Amino acid sequence: MTDIVEKTAKELGIHYETDVSMALKTSFKTGGNAEMMVYPDNTTQLKSILKVCKSNNIQTYIIGNGSNILVSDNGLSGVVVRLSNNYSDIRLVDETTVEAEAGASMKALCMFCLEHSLSGLEFAYGIPGTAGGAAYMNAGAYGGEMKDVLVKCEHLDSNGEEGSFEGDELELGYRKSAYSNSDYVITKLVLKLKKADYSDIKALMDENLGKRKAKQPLEYPSAGSTFKRPEGYFAGALIEQCSLKGFTVGGAQVSEKHAGFVINKGGATSSDIKKLIKHIQKVVYDEKGVMLEPEVKFLG
Ligand SMILES: Cc1cc2nc3c(=O)[nH]c(=O)nc-3n(C[C@H](O)[C@H](O)[C@H](O)COP(=O)(O)OP(=O)(O)OC[C@H]3O[C@@H](n4cnc5c(N)ncnc54)[C@H](O)[C@@H]3O)c2cc1C
Repeated sequence: MTDIVEKTAKELGIHYETDVSMALKTSFKTGGNAEMMVYPDNTTQLKSILKVCKSNNIQTYIIGNGSNILVSDNGLSGVVVRLSNNYSDIRLVDETTVEAEAGASMKALCMFCLEHSLSGLEFAYGIPGTAGGAAYMNAGAYGGEMKDVLVKCEHLDSNGEEGSFEGDELELGYRKSAYSNSDYVITKLVLKLKKADYSDIKALMDENLGKRKAKQPLEYPSAGSTFKRPEGYFAGALIEQCSLKGFTVGGAQVSEKHAGFVINKGGATSSDIKKLIKHIQKVVYDEKGVMLEPEVKFLG
């Protein structure tokens, strides 16, 4: 089925792989194989891939760094488009405006802002995804979120047509955006920041990274916080109060260090993780009356 996409990729010199282990492309380190993974270098290549998939009814999945997805153990048939290092230019537009391609890592983007003494993204230092993934999710931490700095996104729709959303059109809410549940591909972000002192920016970035290292089980594969924060509660606290810290299904475990994280303790399958997520939801609902909503996105 993906032969036609392979043919297009070969003709246009687009890098691709077939039968790719998603365990190697996701931070959970689980999941079956993707039939095909494509790594476009630019928007022209991306457009060609989206068009050929659309006209041949081939399922496409868009991923960045795979740090917030759980891929089925059965794998993904169709084409995974990965926008990561291959699609990652960052540039200064004017004194306080930065443009980043969707595949730029949040780390590189934070460092770029630091080097130009631009403040506003310190909260994001340590979030292990791409700029596109952060815009899609309206990623946030330590009192900040992408909404504070993101003014515009450029995108392609599934027909490969270019468009953009600005300001309120981005519909940035708690871990959601206008792109949630759409098939648009974010290609570029425009961020508005503020001039500040280099050492103040660096100090806040270091402080935030220090908090992550102290509180999060970074030594194990995970997708960060497994659940969204329910209004009026903290997911981790609810899970801990239900005595679920350390609870294990196969190789998946509620982290002993931070109950808000489901980790791959070693040898977990995506099915183990899904079962554990369902178990946590049931216990927390039965004991606390709160239904936890997963933050992690399920693919396949
Ligand atoms: C240790 C750890 C700590 C974390 N800490 C935080 C945190 O503090 N705050 C936070 O918000 N998140 C956190 N996360 C979760 C994750 O890093 C963020 O959600 C991140 O923004 C996801 O980016 P990604 O590139 O990895 O996206 P992926 O996981 O690849 O994709 C996530 C979703 O975005 C979509 N997507 C990705 N790129 C595009 C694109 N270009 N166009 C359209 N759709 C796209 C995908 O289809 C998918 O639905 C953490 C994860 C880990 C593993």
